[in-house]
Amino acid sequence: MEKRIYNFSAGPAILPEPVLKKAQEDLFMLPGVGMSILEISHRSKTFGAFLQSAKDGLRKLLDIPENYDILFLQGGASLQFSMVPMNLMPPVNKADYIITGSWSKKALKEAKRVGTPNVVYTAEATNFDRVPTQDELKFDPEAAYVHYTSNNTIFGTQFDYVPDSGNLPLICDMSSDILYRKIDVSKFAMIYAGAQKNIGPSGVTLVIIRKDMLERSPDTLPTMLNYKTHTENDSMYNTPNTFGIYIIDLVGKYLLENGGLDAMYATNKKKAGILYDCLDNSNGFFKPHAQPGSRSLMNVTFNLPTPELEKQLIEAATAAGFNGLKGHRSVGGLRASIYNAFPLKGVEDLVGFLEDFRKKNS
Ligand SMILES: *Cc1c(COP(=O)(O)O)cnc(C)c1O
Repeated sequence: MEKRIYNFSAGPAILPEPVLKKAQEDLFMLPGVGMSILEISHRSKTFGAFLQSAKDGLRKLLDIPENYDILFLQGGASLQFSMVPMNLMPPVNKADYIITGSWSKKALKEAKRVGTPNVVYTAEATNFDRVPTQDELKFDPEAAYVHYTSNNTIFGTQFDYVPDSGNLPLICDMSSDILYRKIDVSKFAMIYAGAQKNIGPSGVTLVIIRKDMLERSPDTLPTMLNYKTHTENDSMYNTPNTFGIYIIDLVGKYLLENGGLDAMYATNKKKAGILYDCLDNSNGFFKPHAQPGSRSLMNVTFNLPTPELEKQLIEAATAAGFNGLKGHRSVGGLRASIYNAFPLKGVEDLVGFLEDFRKKNS
């Protein structure tokens, strides 16, 4: 392969080129250290500085208030599906779950092992083609928390608002849209995100947790599954994913140097806008899966008139250097994941390609 191709993968996903280049440069030897990031102790000063800098970057980008801890854990967002109810559901052992796709269903499944979560909304009947409006959400005043998924990576839907949970702590899986725009962190009791969609490589999970929530964690929990273990040890109770945290630091710096999250959001809107316009103006040849109002800026899902045409399009696109467009099996069709690092030019080129394909095949 002579040059980098357009990578539409849903995750692990594309990273900013300057981040890759910097990591490549440092990989043989960190300047002034004489060893690479892969070889140094997590207890070293050098790594400590990366960890602190990664947290500082996130705090700046998201304006994370001082009463929130920032953790880098392992086990993926999937382990958070278990850790959230184990730590935060007791003693009432019930919580409200908004079900907008496969990931929220998996979160619900784990909550059921701890207590009796309540489904306050589900869009399963229409194959998760939308997210609820605020009016559709009625919460149990005794729920330990409200849990939702801000961006549904598989179905291509996204909340464009933060649900108002009243006095109930709000917990969000932001794996596939964290840092796509500014959010008001103070509306959340906890946010978690697997890094590999929008902020880094796989193997590290960002957790942002309001400190008062930590009082809930039962002391009987296994040490590694207790949030308190990780806050008390600054994510270093055991060896963290040092390389992953280093990359998150580079991504944070890259974002700060490139206009921060407002600039990112403007570009993200533009990218998704031209792609949805192409789909909407195709005389029904391309059918977006998500309903208007629920459409994701990160994962654009759509179908063609027949599965045969979908297969043809994916093959032709792959040959032309557009990689990773095959949709998840639960929606079929195509999915273009256009995370922060995906270039505008790549979306423009994809639109040109899709229009060509439509002209030839309709
Ligand atoms: C990918 C994804 C997950 C699963 O993440 P892992 O890190 O693989 O456990 C969970 N939630 C959402 C929204 C995702 O996109």
